[in-house]
Amino acid sequence: MPDKVNKQQKIRDALNDDRIEVFLQPIYSTSEKCFVSAEALVRMRDREGKIVSPGDFIPVAESSGLIGQIGDRVFEKVCEYIQEGVMIKLGIHYIEVNLSIIQCEDSTLASRYAGIMRSYGIEPSAINLEITETGQMQDRDTLMQNLKMLHKTGCTFSLDDFGTGESNLNYIVEMPVDIVKFDRTMILSYFSNHKTKLMMEYVIKMIKGLQMKIVAEGVEESYQLEALEKLGVDYIQGYYFSKPVAKDEFVTFIEKNQGAIA
Ligand code: C2E
Ligand code: MG
Ligand code: MG
Repeated sequence: MPDKVNKQQKIRDALNDDRIEVFLQPIYSTSEKCFVSAEALVRMRDREGKIVSPGDFIPVAESSGLIGQIGDRVFEKVCEYIQEGVMIKLGIHYIEVNLSIIQCEDSTLASRYAGIMRSYGIEPSAINLEITETGQMQDRDTLMQNLKMLHKTGCTFSLDDFGTGESNLNYIVEMPVDIVKFDRTMILSYFSNHKTKLMMEYVIKMIKGLQMKIVAEGVEESYQLEALEKLGVDYIQGYYFSKPVAKDEFVTFIEKNQGAIA
């Protein structure tokens, strides 16, 4: 328990000192042969300047209610990046932002996010919200209301971590999902397990039949990129192209590589 309290205080301090940062990881379109979007991934910088990964603070933020403030901060920073105009100039049409289920159970979420987008003067279509279904969900009605409202506003949605056991087919049917993100573990299994390979081939057909797009996460090797491209996966994300990096580094990467990878 003291450890949890300690972590909560560190998160509060980081929020107060503006040490919550947003890194970006490029997402490559296999049909357009260029980078068309990016995922925003939160980082906390400690007092010594060291980066803390989300796995080390998101669970505590979720259980203490601080996730709302972190989510708002991340969302505002992403809106600011888009407002600057450099993303669109580089061909980055939208940014994917992770939403915790806990955030979705706050009845003010949709109107707050719509207000933030308005205040930055950005098109909601420049935002794709990633959701992960988990067993933690308690207030399904509020969650669905938020998703529907944000979808109506013009934001699109991705179902994150598909294939991890937390996300399943039922959610694709029920939620206003435009993109399905295959988790890294499923991608790895595709190359090592014959059954996964078969299953993925059918699932991809099904998702495409539902007019949804697919992102493969965690792609690290060129043979994976080639195979997934052949399989009809629409978008590729992973260390093969780039790790998540700070915005300036991201811009430099896109300037250098946009159009250079075919
Ligand atoms: P996620 O949304 O599924 O994000 C993908 C994770 O996979 C990221 O880890 C990314 O760095 C990592 N990844 C991407 N490509 C590769 C690869 O080729 N190889 C390997 N080994 N890993 C790869 P990260 O940044 O540590 O984030 C972990 C999780 O924390 C995210 O998983 C997401 O669930 C959560 N998270 C991150 N940012 C936010 C946020 O702003 N809000 C909320 N609520 N959750 C966030
Ligand atoms: Mg994600
Ligand atoms: Mg994921």
